[in-house]
Amino acid sequence: MLNRLQDKIAVVTGAGQGIGAAIAKRLSSEGAKLVLVDINEDCLKDISGKLDTEALCVAADVSNKDQVFAMIAQAKDTFGTVDILVNNAGIIRDGFLAKLSEDDWEKVIDVNLKGPFLCCQAVFDIMKAQNSGKIVNIVSRSWLGNIGQANYSASKGGLVSLTRTLALELARFQINVNAVAPGLIGTPMTKSMPEEALARLLRMQPTGKMGSVNDIAAAVCFLSSGDAQFINGQVIHVDGGKSCGLLSL
Ligand code: NAP
Repeated sequence: MLNRLQDKIAVVTGAGQGIGAAIAKRLSSEGAKLVLVDINEDCLKDISGKLDTEALCVAADVSNKDQVFAMIAQAKDTFGTVDILVNNAGIIRDGFLAKLSEDDWEKVIDVNLKGPFLCCQAVFDIMKAQNSGKIVNIVSRSWLGNIGQANYSASKGGLVSLTRTLALELARFQINVNAVAPGLIGTPMTKSMPEEALARLLRMQPTGKMGSVNDIAAAVCFLSSGDAQFINGQVIHVDGGKSCGLLSL
């Protein structure tokens, strides 16, 4: 394993399971110290015990401004700075337009779009002061559009726009802002999907199988490292080619 993130301080939201846990493990394996954030604190202890480096566990809801700013303040008190922010926490509340409730719309936009906005705002002063930083937003191939996911696709499309805009705004402070767009990945989130919906998604998958959490973690690690110093405002699709177009069967 490379050692590209030696002693960097990385905040990963939604780190308690799935893709976030894999990202935390990968960043740690390359030398970063971790701030593990999740709404459910119990699962963080388990992950922190499996890391190669020091970790701070913080329970926070990314859609709550006070909790986000307190979490970043705690990270700074503990480690002195924040070098890397990975906005990974996200939720799904799927439904076709006529049945999508206002609550499901608001909840998904709050966690998936407002959450990353608040986290970026909270780390900005720290990264600006040190004139360096890496922000990686976890979007989804669904940002291109996906039936039954109006709320989720809109939240991820909004996050792509936020990524591109902040890339322009923050470049002068040597802060890179990029996004990783996973395709279908085996995690508790996908396991919670109805069997029929999952089978349909697999039929549309060029590779015919789901990707792994480690595929996403590798892309995030690259974008968090000096290897990606001149990459800014980009979306890397890690989806087995699904974003390239329709698969004719
Ligand atoms: P997951 O297994 O559901 O894990 C997400 C984690 O985030 C959970 O531990 C969850 O806690 C936590 N979380 C939820 N709401 C939060 C909040 N308000 N504040 C802080 N933490 C919160 O999801 P995943 O599949 O690993 O997905 C991770 C990211 O990848 C998401 O942004 C998702 O949209 C994106 N993604 C996933 C796939 C896929 O195929 N899995 C594909 C494309 C994009 P609880 O479990 O307690 O709610």
